[in-house]
Amino acid sequence: MLDKRNFYINGQWIRPKEINDFTVINPSNEEAYATISLGGAHDVNLAVSYAKKALIEWSQFDKKERINLLEKLLNIYKNKWQDITNTMSNEMGAPLDWSSSAQTASGADHINDFIFRLKNFQFEAKFNKNSNNYIVYEPIGVCALITPWNWPINQITLKVIPALAAGCTMILKPSEIAPLSGMLFAEIIHEAGFPPGVFNLINGDGDGVGTDLSSHSDIDMISFTGSTRAGKLISKNAADTIKRVCLELGGKGGNIIFSDSNPEAVREGVRNIMSNSGQSCDAPTRMLVEKSIYKRAIEEAADEANKIKVDIASKKGNHIGPVISQIQYDKIINLINSGIKEGATLVAGGSEKPAGLEKGYFVKPTIFTNVTNDMRIAKEEIFGPVLSIIPFEDEDEAISIVNDTPYGLGNYVQTQDKEKAKRVARKLRSGGVYINGNSADPGTPFGGYRQSGNGREGGNWGLEEYLEIKTICGWE
Ligand code: NAD
Repeated sequence: MLDKRNFYINGQWIRPKEINDFTVINPSNEEAYATISLGGAHDVNLAVSYAKKALIEWSQFDKKERINLLEKLLNIYKNKWQDITNTMSNEMGAPLDWSSSAQTASGADHINDFIFRLKNFQFEAKFNKNSNNYIVYEPIGVCALITPWNWPINQITLKVIPALAAGCTMILKPSEIAPLSGMLFAEIIHEAGFPPGVFNLINGDGDGVGTDLSSHSDIDMISFTGSTRAGKLISKNAADTIKRVCLELGGKGGNIIFSDSNPEAVREGVRNIMSNSGQSCDAPTRMLVEKSIYKRAIEEAADEANKIKVDIASKKGNHIGPVISQIQYDKIINLINSGIKEGATLVAGGSEKPAGLEKGYFVKPTIFTNVTNDMRIAKEEIFGPVLSIIPFEDEDEAISIVNDTPYGLGNYVQTQDKEKAKRVARKLRSGGVYINGNSADPGTPFGGYRQSGNGREGGNWGLEEYLEIKTICGWE
């Protein structure tokens, strides 16, 4: 078992003042994989004091020097590709091929894109030709970055890289459930040669380090990705110090499939929700199907779900892996049982473990039909491989069902009628709408409406979150 109890503070791996052991479990076999330590207020205060000190010089670093360091970081990241891939596979159950092509690749894409944004970002400019006012973008200061376990490196790079690019200093608290890829990322930062104190990493849980960071008076901004539950607590804990709070939270995406959609639309929708074992905030977990093709859609969805293989993460292949933990497994099974109790029809999967996979947190790809929007499986974020299919009569009804949720992260539309697709996309209340299987380009903004959060990550929007804007009057 790996001993990973040190924290990265001021350019060094140091032993926490008090050791508070926490075991990281490999979800494919339920075995202990590493021991970390959960930090406390002393560790947070120490890291914040170094980050505050480092800000003085780092915030003034020339843009070219920041670009050089980020380019070095990208090279080292690419050299450690297999290590990063294996680590995520072990800590959160992403099958090796998926871990490499989706999880590790997402980090490289973000680093690459932020380098491009930084090169082209204008940090200073005259307000206009005739004005003597000058507008300056400056780093906001010391940032706390709190990330989840489901896309660990994706979330870390979406926060750490723009914070570095902006000239901020930071304390990263990765998810305690899957912290090892974050610790490997800290080693990459170290090897790239960023000045001590610019980047710091402390492990901990939400009640401890998470709360200490949220309420700390020397932290200027908190960027959080995780559950809506924790997002609310962070906002409350941050209120007294009026720090900037950026939140990327949960979702309950709708996928509207009209009768004139591509014949592969239903199967695509099933594969999309099942990938990453359903553990994606923007997963299309509610499939809305026009009544005239409802029967065909059910048959296709069940057939597609039954074709998806489930297996351990250390195997190569295009199967899905386990869900992250016993707690998450129990929550998902409980929701599957609630679907059955509330009268939805189970057409694939169910609450039993897949044959031969009794050890490990494995859930069968599960499909419910005859779901109504008042059932728990249609309302709550399940965060597992479970799809609810809901029939609709017409366009207005589909839009109203999709929007009938407190969330608003990603929604999907399938139709060959381009005008209808655009009309529907405009009416859906979410930060992203994906038409006919199209995906987001690098550098586009990602984030949610309503209880899916506020602020946007990615591209210039993601960079600007880490900047303050100053107006200097009388520049000339
Ligand atoms: P979580 O909220 O339990 O934990 C996320 C992180 O927050 C962890 O590091 C955890 O230690 C920390 N945390 C928990 N309580 C806290 C508190 N009170 N104060 C400060 N920090 C606290 O979520 P999770 O189970 O790790 O991740 C799954 C959730 O993340 C899902 O709801 C998913 O939709 C969401 N998510 C959203 C996005 C997005 O971009 N919108 C992306 C990925 C995941």
